[in-house]
Amino acid sequence: MYSLMANCCNWLKRWREPVRKVTLIMVGLDNAGKTATVKGIQGESPEDVAPTVGFSKIDLKQGRFEVTIFDLGGGKRIRGIWKNYYAESYGIIFVVDSSDVERMEETKETMSEVLRHPKISGKPVLVLANKQDKEGALAEADVIECLSLEKLVNEHKCLCQIEPCSAIMGYGKKIDKSIKKGLLWLLHIIAKDFEVLHERIQKDTTEQKAAEEQEKRERAERVRKIREERERKEREEAEREGRNISDEGEPEIITGNPFQLISAVIIENEKKIEKEKKRQWEESEKDAIVLKPQTNQEQMDTQSLNSQRFTDGSLVENYRSALTQELEHEDENEQQISESFDSGDNVTLNSGTESSKKKAKKLKLKRSHRVEPVNTEETISPDPTPVAPLAPIGWETPKVNRVRKLEPLGETRRNDFYGKPLPPLTLRQRPNSDSHDVIS
Ligand code: GDP
Repeated sequence: MYSLMANCCNWLKRWREPVRKVTLIMVGLDNAGKTATVKGIQGESPEDVAPTVGFSKIDLKQGRFEVTIFDLGGGKRIRGIWKNYYAESYGIIFVVDSSDVERMEETKETMSEVLRHPKISGKPVLVLANKQDKEGALAEADVIECLSLEKLVNEHKCLCQIEPCSAIMGYGKKIDKSIKKGLLWLLHIIAKDFEVLHERIQKDTTEQKAAEEQEKRERAERVRKIREERERKEREEAEREGRNISDEGEPEIITGNPFQLISAVIIENEKKIEKEKKRQWEESEKDAIVLKPQTNQEQMDTQSLNSQRFTDGSLVENYRSALTQELEHEDENEQQISESFDSGDNVTLNSGTESSKKKAKKLKLKRSHRVEPVNTEETISPDPTPVAPLAPIGWETPKVNRVRKLEPLGETRRNDFYGKPLPPLTLRQRPNSDSHDVIS
């Protein structure tokens, strides 16, 4: 009965307790297993994690605590940022790779540096001696000894607990019990001394903020001085060279708001385009009025020229004779090249044997595909309408002589394709064959 009442009182006490927001930092050398631990606590698989490069943050709820854990990268160059998180931290989780004996000294120095910091000294520290599953991993006592942990924590008045563990053993509810135990211990210590710790953290963070503000101001002041110095030097140089500094490179001062609504900019642009179009149209209208008589004249000239092309017989005759000459000339050339090529001579036509061969081949092909000019007198109508005035004269569609429909060859057929009588059919025996073949 008594214990039941005690439990009820405890439950009521806890229920009345306010939610406490607590920040913890997780530090340690790179590859110690910080991310794996954090993932395991968060309920994610800690396998295949990459070493922390920057930092990550997780939030979790534990009883009346809302816990934020900063997993800070442990690389040598990044360790400098750890101190930015010291002020707001209620406690420290230091992860050690128990299997990495070679780096124990480095671990010891790093831990000493952390605990020595005025914003950390006196705060509770949980040491996770991780990677216990690995062969050759140092046991708890050995880690304590290697790190001179007792001496360190006593020196800096830090309450400490060490937990040998393995971050990859499980995650979520199946997380290594030692990790869970260690985390509960840390929160319990924080809860026990919460008011004092909280006050200290408030004070430290306010101080840190003030220091940061001061640093910002100092930096701005340094930048201002450097700029002033540079400007002074430029002015002196300009005076020596007799230049007017105010004319040069003065930055354009934007008076209005540099950020404008995109819709307003679009409307403005559209108006400008419309204006420009109108101006162009007006100009072209003026030009058209000036050029009109000239255009009419031009049209008349063109028409007369076109009609001349088609009606003037001499023009057609001249074109035909010129074309015939050209073709005859071309034929002669082709003949020469082809003969030389066929006889295998080394013909040198301006640019060597290779090119002449190519040319000869090309000409051969050309000759076989050449289209002969048709009779212009037949194709040109006496009164043509100049529908396509620029079509070449004499090269219109030739008259097509339709060939007679082909009939299958057989005994009944008397005449050939052109109407000539066919020779009588002969039967010839194939050599080495009993069957007869019919050859016309
Ligand atoms: P961090 O740089 O401290 O964040 O280290 P990680 O958490 O990224 O872990 C580094 C490597 O060690 C990863 O390959 C992890 O899988 C591995 N690792 C972490 N914890 C353990 C552990 O308990 N046992 C073993 N065998 N490997 C671990």
